[in-house]
Amino acid sequence: MTKRTAFSFFSVYYKPTRIALYRFKPMSNVNKLFSTRKIYDLKKSDALFVKAMRDNCRYQYGHCPAYKEFLDRFRFQPDDIRTFDDLQRLPFLPTLYLKKHRMLSMSERRLPLKVTSSGTGGNKSFVGFNLRSIWNAFKMVCRVAKYHNLWSARLTRYVVFGYRPRRDNSLGASKSAWGFTFFAPAASRIYALDYKDGGYKLDLDNIKNKLVKYSKGRLPVRTMGFPAYTYFLLRQMKEEGLSVKLPKGSLICLGGGWKQFYAEKIGKQEFYDLAFEVLGVDDKHIIEFFGAVEHPILYTDCREHHFHLPAYSRVIIRDVDTLLPVPDGVPGLVNLLTPLFDSAPMLSILTDDIGVLHSDPCSCGETSPYLEILGRVGVKDVVTCAQGAEEILKDFLRTDDDTL
Ligand SMILES: [Zn+2]
Repeated sequence: MTKRTAFSFFSVYYKPTRIALYRFKPMSNVNKLFSTRKIYDLKKSDALFVKAMRDNCRYQYGHCPAYKEFLDRFRFQPDDIRTFDDLQRLPFLPTLYLKKHRMLSMSERRLPLKVTSSGTGGNKSFVGFNLRSIWNAFKMVCRVAKYHNLWSARLTRYVVFGYRPRRDNSLGASKSAWGFTFFAPAASRIYALDYKDGGYKLDLDNIKNKLVKYSKGRLPVRTMGFPAYTYFLLRQMKEEGLSVKLPKGSLICLGGGWKQFYAEKIGKQEFYDLAFEVLGVDDKHIIEFFGAVEHPILYTDCREHHFHLPAYSRVIIRDVDTLLPVPDGVPGLVNLLTPLFDSAPMLSILTDDIGVLHSDPCSCGETSPYLEILGRVGVKDVVTCAQGAEEILKDFLRTDDDTL
């Protein structure tokens, strides 16, 4: 093949890629942000974060008519985002609203990965990832895992306190727990919720028996799942007088939050003590993750069990009544910001979690502030809290339409 024909061949076959790159070019600040290596250096990434948010806001404004209407209603334009303070004025969407209404900025055909939150009565959030968002999320996960020493070449036994993945299961918790089983090569994977006879059945006894068996082996074990499921099993084992020591290098990983614990008021320390007593795993080998389907940023706790904010996101705590930002150390509603999604205008979402942002120094050495989730307000309260935004939304968005 001559040089000329080689070039022709190249240009013919690479045209789609060139078009795709051209389309993504205006958002390259987002790619840069998700390539940040110093993942907890917020000061260094502040300016880039603001630029990435502005680019994302411009894209959403231009591609999601409902979001454009929403910002117009608040008289806010994407180019109004110039400094970090401007992000505090950027109108946010309540997660409660996103659970009822699907907002998209691109065709579903461009979204190879679709995820839903758990929820009852059809109130589930839907999020879709295009290739670029998948790539950026992948880079983030790799960097966070490296920082927290989650990568390992040792064969590992995985115990997932969650669903066995299935093609028809689009739950974010199921997909992220499955993804977690790739940080170290898997010798085996077992799931507390197995699909049998047309439905998922919880089988904690099987998990218990396997943990006892694994404790006699040499391969490290990594558990992953809701703190509540893990806690119930540990408590059951304690009541039965079972106490084992998992092999060296084992980890207990928790995800999905402690919401189920708020009623029981079980402290984290109590959980750590129980894990050490029953499975022989100390709290330095207990790692917790935090994230949400609408905000899939991987928050991972440090050795002091603090969720430091990574470069890929920022958090604003808002007063429950006025929704205005409150100073660090004051509790309020948690407003999460990230420019990760191309497919939907989820760059600033207001959750129904009550949290507090701490900026005091942490002995782990990181200077990034850390988020503490204190609890969750009731659905009614959130509607009241987010009344301003919610009512304006209700006014003009087509509520009978599933896709906006
Ligand atoms: Zn720390």
